[in-house]
Amino acid sequence: MKVVVLLGAPGSGKGTVAALLVRREPSVCHVSSGDLLRAAVKRSDTPAARAAAEAMRRGELVADAVVGALVVERLRTCAPDGILLLDGYPRNEQQAAALERELARENSRVSAAVWLDVPEDVLLARLGGRRICSQCAAGYHVENMKPRVDGQCDACGGKLIQREDDQPERIANRLVVYREQTGALIGWYESRGLLVRVAGGEPSDAVADRVARTVVS
Ligand code: AMP
Repeated sequence: MKVVVLLGAPGSGKGTVAALLVRREPSVCHVSSGDLLRAAVKRSDTPAARAAAEAMRRGELVADAVVGALVVERLRTCAPDGILLLDGYPRNEQQAAALERELARENSRVSAAVWLDVPEDVLLARLGGRRICSQCAAGYHVENMKPRVDGQCDACGGKLIQREDDQPERIANRLVVYREQTGALIGWYESRGLLVRVAGGEPSDAVADRVARTVVS
């Protein structure tokens, strides 16, 4: 299995680019830790799920063991000869090391870490206008990616909502967490010769073209 990690701040377009790549290349298995966590806290009401939901509301990181277990369970469902595209995981060095150990068990390793580098003003505009489907989690934007029918998901007809952590004060906190914890992964992958920087401030189709060169090649 070819494993590619998508790195980038909240709002850098990791989920959007991954969804475009899946549409173009069906062998891509898109694993989003944020989507896995949102689904997990919706379906279970355990103390761990409640703690995860609270961390997500505050824009902080969920415990490594909780998110790691969800990601490992999900990646085992991806076809072994396909391309695994990790979106939102790892988010700190401990998770990157845990991923390395998990992949080594399958005689696999990360082949590239694609960093979507986006200026902060673009991140803020994207996050503030982002809407997601309450049913299937498809992503939209009030300016750049409007649904065909106002407030309604094109794919499943679900109601579009603003994520609680996309409120302005939560966005600020998530960007701080990104800079302090996830930002370090750029150097981590660079020192291993795996980092590919992609300017991510342009329209998502153009960015997806550039990412596809690394992911599918
Ligand atoms: P995302 O959809 O990737 O923006 O993630 C939404 C929220 O889920 C983040 O703000 C974190 O609270 C949590 N989360 C997602 N991925 C991780 C991860 N790898 N480690 C810890 N928390 C995560």
